[in-house]
Amino acid sequence: MPDFEEYTEEIKELWESHWLTNMGKKHKQLESGLLEYLNTPDITLFANGHLALECVIAAFNLTGEVITTPFTFASTTHAIVRNGLEPVFCDVNPNDYTMDMKKLESLITDKTCAIIPVHVYGNICNVKEIERIAKKHNLKVIYDAAHAFGVTVDGIGVANFGDASMFSFHATKVFNTIEGGAVTFKNSNLRKTLNDIKNFGITGPESVEYVGGNAKMNEFQAAMGICNLRHVDGEIGKRKAVVERYVERLSNINGIKLSKSQIGVKSNYAYFPVVFDGYKLSRDEVLEKLKAEDIFARKYFYPLTNSFECYKGRFDVEKTPVAKYIAERVLTLPLYAELALEDVDRICDIILKYNKARNECNLEVAAALARG
Ligand SMILES: *Cc1c(COP(=O)(O)O)cnc(C)c1O
Repeated sequence: MPDFEEYTEEIKELWESHWLTNMGKKHKQLESGLLEYLNTPDITLFANGHLALECVIAAFNLTGEVITTPFTFASTTHAIVRNGLEPVFCDVNPNDYTMDMKKLESLITDKTCAIIPVHVYGNICNVKEIERIAKKHNLKVIYDAAHAFGVTVDGIGVANFGDASMFSFHATKVFNTIEGGAVTFKNSNLRKTLNDIKNFGITGPESVEYVGGNAKMNEFQAAMGICNLRHVDGEIGKRKAVVERYVERLSNINGIKLSKSQIGVKSNYAYFPVVFDGYKLSRDEVLEKLKAEDIFARKYFYPLTNSFECYKGRFDVEKTPVAKYIAERVLTLPLYAELALEDVDRICDIILKYNKARNECNLEVAAALARG
């Protein structure tokens, strides 16, 4: 959060203008700030990331099947299903947990209309290969970039890949507007459609062309974003120090697998996922040991979206064995800018206390599953 005074200063003029929502001055200011920060051709803001994703899928007017990943937050899959589309789940690779390029193309049928991959934990998908496959089969690509705010690949902002990308500005994300989200896109014709869809499909004073919803970002959210954007680079810098300490403490421990940093990728240090595979303690045991000390790690992501109760009987989790394997063993450790390095040490001490005998690493199993 920004300083209280900084925020109240930012919202003061709302008491003069009485303009609280519907694309006001703060909204416009944040939009142009983000356009520059994300270095993207175009952007439009939303009430939250999930509605941003639902609206951009709707804007492409798709029908049929969408290839996506189950190793994500509920939002990705739900946004596809709530648009009347059929998700087809591609497995993830065991290195960075993004969509497995060796398995993607075989899932394409004549019903496939789009690919919705996830830059999970801020790890960037194989965007070149996805683009190649999408071009070849004439498919739209919409990235769930909820985790990837500010990440660049060889200097290119992540918002520039695919036909569109969705970002989340939820309170728990690297950059927040309390709740909020955005869609970045290349084709400028999309701007009007997205703006209409997020405003009830109203296209003119007396015309309603789409069955839209209400997904507008209000001025108080935008003001929070304006404040947070001023400090986001500093926040990411502090997160980097936390991650480096975790890496220093937890590297080269049998049974503990960390995410490798990707070549050419400038990270935002959004998450610190750790896979416990053949460690003295199971993932669930580590979670409990930490909880006993009032430290709250998360099983992120577990369960997989293709095993949710609401989809019971619809999908086969066994078709995404690597995602299943990782979901059963992964834990994201506490990570935020203000986390003191002494606390990182305390967390690592608790985990490493059990680093004694019995350690055979089973990651070969995950690699074998990936090979099929
Ligand atoms: C947070 C998140 C969303 C949804 O964003 P909200 O702003 O919370 O609606 C979607 N996908 C992923 C991967 C997320 O982490």
